[in-house]
Amino acid sequence: MDTASSPDLTIDFRLSEDMELLKGSVRDFARSEILPFVMKYDEAQEFPAPIFRKMADLGFLGATIPPELEGAGLSPLHFVIIMEELSRVDPSIGLTLAAHSGLCLQHIALWGNADQQQKYVPDLATGRKIGSWCLTEPGSGSDASGMKTTAVADGDSYVLTGSKSFITNGSYASTYVVTAKTDQSKGNKGISAFIVERSMKGVNVGKKENKLGMRASDTVVMMFDEVRVPKANLIGREGEGFRQALVVLESGRIGIAALSVGLAQGALDAAAKYAKERQAFGKTLAEFQGIQFKLADMATQIAAARLLTYRAAQTKIQGEPVARLAAQAKLFASEVAQRAATEAVQIHGGYGFIKDFPVEKFYRDVKLLTIGEGTSEVLRMVIAKNLLQE
Ligand SMILES: Cc1cc2nc3c(=O)[nH]c(=O)nc-3n(C[C@H](O)[C@H](O)[C@H](O)COP(=O)(O)OP(=O)(O)OC[C@H]3O[C@@H](n4cnc5c(N)ncnc54)[C@H](O)[C@@H]3O)c2cc1C
Repeated sequence: MDTASSPDLTIDFRLSEDMELLKGSVRDFARSEILPFVMKYDEAQEFPAPIFRKMADLGFLGATIPPELEGAGLSPLHFVIIMEELSRVDPSIGLTLAAHSGLCLQHIALWGNADQQQKYVPDLATGRKIGSWCLTEPGSGSDASGMKTTAVADGDSYVLTGSKSFITNGSYASTYVVTAKTDQSKGNKGISAFIVERSMKGVNVGKKENKLGMRASDTVVMMFDEVRVPKANLIGREGEGFRQALVVLESGRIGIAALSVGLAQGALDAAAKYAKERQAFGKTLAEFQGIQFKLADMATQIAAARLLTYRAAQTKIQGEPVARLAAQAKLFASEVAQRAATEAVQIHGGYGFIKDFPVEKFYRDVKLLTIGEGTSEVLRMVIAKNLLQE
């Protein structure tokens, strides 16, 4: 065959040298700075402020933000690696990062004008301020366009009123991206997005949720009581908020896919270690084929989920449409993680039910992953709609 004129048939699945270095350093950070405190923050349901501060110092929060705005100037694939390695040790740290960087910061970086970016992005990218993203309401989650929060133009402000549920980082945030209806007659084209500051009168933190898992991540109801938001804080134009949110969720879902891969890998690591140590019937568990098959299936599914997640991030880097791939990566990886966490507990037997072993926490944390940023049902709807339109 004439190789000079033949097409390049290689696909390089390796991470670049700097990605491998990043992976190693996030791994070391997670083991030394997060692992010793995982259960402390989980039991207390406490936001891990010192860990968040250290992540900020290492540039994790503003990973994909350009250096001019005090970010690290890395790619979405680098962000995936950070998310994966943190979540391998503590998925609730991953969720905190997903809400701060993947949603709030991304929304302003993607859709904010130059003034908004200058004013808000550097503080969020460096962790001087914490961010939240407020879409879900008590009466509308999957059907986000059914939101009731309103923003009524009044002079040089909008008056924003309503409440938002399940808001990650809400108690600790200073900067909120909030969606509200500016025109009730236009359905989702009547939704706009605003940057709201904690210091604005009428911004109140409501009930703190007592959760099954992801307990170190803060989840609260946010209440907005006739908050006067300057018109300068409208992101983009009136009516663009819903579309902006959908695009933000595309990259957000890649982040949750990475979180899922990390959690699944953490569960597999723990299960394999335990299987090599635990004795039954005069052998280690790892010597039984029934256990080996479980580990083999977990490893295979995780490898597939990782590839799909990296491909979604790579597609985003290439600037190609990513809605379907992002939904597929999140759907597949979260369901792989759920199976991995279940099998990891099973391999631990009774000890998997006890808080001394990390799989107990993975099993609780994992349930959020098939719900947040699009339930598995909603993602199947997104994927089907996308493929039927082709
Ligand atoms: C820990 C945690 C953190 C969160 N963080 C945030 C955050 O920071 N910001 C934010 O805005 N939101 C956040 N959320 C909200 C989250 O995104 C929603 O919970 C999620 O979108 C689902 O909405 P819902 O809870 O209202 O469920 P619903 O929409 O009421 O759905 C209930 C069930 O019905 C199914 N369903 C709904 N519609 C259909 C349909 N058409 N066909 C088939 N099945 C359907 C769903 O898949 C689900 O199984 C968080 C949630 C949790 C639990």
